[in-house]
Amino acid sequence: MPDNQSRLDLFIDRMVSQRACLDFAISETKGMPGPVFELGLGNGRTYHHMVQYISGRPVYVFERAVASHPDSTPPADRVILGDVRETLPASVDRFGATASLIHADLGGHNRKKNDDFARFVSPLIEPLLAEGGLMVSSDRMYFDTLTEVSLPEGAVEGRCFIYRR
Ligand code: SAM
Repeated sequence: MPDNQSRLDLFIDRMVSQRACLDFAISETKGMPGPVFELGLGNGRTYHHMVQYISGRPVYVFERAVASHPDSTPPADRVILGDVRETLPASVDRFGATASLIHADLGGHNRKKNDDFARFVSPLIEPLLAEGGLMVSSDRMYFDTLTEVSLPEGAVEGRCFIYRR
């Protein structure tokens, strides 16, 4: 990533990359029956995008405090409320390795903190992904058994990452 990019440049690259990677992952996994997990609801823009374009698969949201746009607020029974450091391990018992698509956008503005957090949550996410499933992340992840996939057209290197089981 060039150092001379403005915050606006970085923001636009992140948004464009999120959409390109999500569209690719939704299409690649459309034949899979398993649930979709959104880690980090925020304003709900990426959740809204997924619900808009995914059919036939439930979308569950992992979030510590729901504060999304009213149009992008999931039904209560699709919210797994709490800190993902606790809710992800608990979800292995509930779901097993069934998720067809997992999207994580849990980071803030501090890149070192985001990287430390990605290292911590990677082994908690890994056991939830089904064979053939895809994991899309705004941060580089640290998986033992998932393989990094080339980014689709339109995504910017370093702004989004895709992994497959
Ligand atoms: N992709 C979202 C969108 O399009 O609006 C934005 C997500 S926002 C950058 C990150 C979200 O992750 C925040 O809502 C924050 O509360 C949530 N989050 C961060 N760390 C978390 C944790 N440890 N457990 C649960 N949620 C967390």
